[in-house]
Amino acid sequence: MSRVYNFGAGPATIAEPVLQQAQEELLDWHQLGMSVMEISHRSAAFKEVVQQAIQDLRDLMQISDDYEVLFLTSPARAQFAMLPLNLLGSLNTASYINTGIWSAMAIKEAQKFCQVNLVASNANSDFYTIPESDTWDIAPESAYFYFTSNETINGVEFHEVPDVGDMPLVTDMTSNILSRPVDVSRYGVIFAGAQKNIGPAGLTVVIIRKDLLGRARSDTPAVMDYLLNSKNDSVYYTPATFSYYMAGLTFRWLKQQGGLAAIGEQNRRKSAKLYDFIDHSTFYHNPVGPRFRSWMNIPFILQDEQLDGVFLQQAQAQGLAALKGHRLVGGMRASLYNAMPEAGVDALIDFMRDFANRRG
Ligand SMILES: *Cc1c(COP(=O)(O)O)cnc(C)c1O
Repeated sequence: MSRVYNFGAGPATIAEPVLQQAQEELLDWHQLGMSVMEISHRSAAFKEVVQQAIQDLRDLMQISDDYEVLFLTSPARAQFAMLPLNLLGSLNTASYINTGIWSAMAIKEAQKFCQVNLVASNANSDFYTIPESDTWDIAPESAYFYFTSNETINGVEFHEVPDVGDMPLVTDMTSNILSRPVDVSRYGVIFAGAQKNIGPAGLTVVIIRKDLLGRARSDTPAVMDYLLNSKNDSVYYTPATFSYYMAGLTFRWLKQQGGLAAIGEQNRRKSAKLYDFIDHSTFYHNPVGPRFRSWMNIPFILQDEQLDGVFLQQAQAQGLAALKGHRLVGGMRASLYNAMPEAGVDALIDFMRDFANRRG
């Protein structure tokens, strides 16, 4: 059996050493004679799994004691409702910037709970840029400012943290968390679903400044209340235990790779290689403005879209999987998450060059 290079956007590739460790200890975890999936989420052993994973994440992202780190079992998009429910307090407005499909979805959900002030939108550029900050219209009475740090579908990433003064800055980091060093102190809330850059689906990480806890509306469902989850050390309900365990293994692996500075350098290099190849080709094209290009998700289109099918088929035959673009934008997309080795990017470029020579 040989593993392919999986360029899927999520669920996505997981580092091989992480999968191997999980396989080795699957049947008999920590000499308990059962797997980690079969123990009580209230057992000391499982609580230790969660606490260690949270500590390793704190170490990796250098998260200070001013922040609470929550593990929640829910889709990432549950946060689209949980944020307004938990953060509005006595205010009724939140500011959102629309930079693509994921922020648009967050805006639509937030409108059920509050007045959304649309700061700016890049819809007129087909979401291939980020509006310049001097055009932003931030409502001063906003409970928070929301942005999507990496738009997974259109391949647009914020390479600078927005400056919004004292207003709590909230971000959906689902597709670029842990991809480079981050100054957590700039943020009120960072959240991320696990299935892109952490591990299996089922876990959503929420990093929240402690002074923002305890503002939830009184009709907030219990499972959606950040404070309640925090008081219960992230095991208020029965969580996706296997996903939490796998996240912990990934955080350990990232530490062994040298932490986020080393990982960030690799990610910068991996994505630069692919962009550089695409930009020097007349056969492939990436539509995103160079300053806004994502390090994680790289969409590209073929000169002749009639060749899409045969491109995907031949790539698959060479062990390059899941390159089909999102159904909403078409073309191709290569996701280069942390677990994608540089050799995978090299193999992709070799294939793309060869394909263009044969079919271009
Ligand atoms: C994948 C993704 C989500 C949605 O994740 P779900 O767990 O399916 O809700 C949200 N935001 C971003 C940026 C994503 O990439």
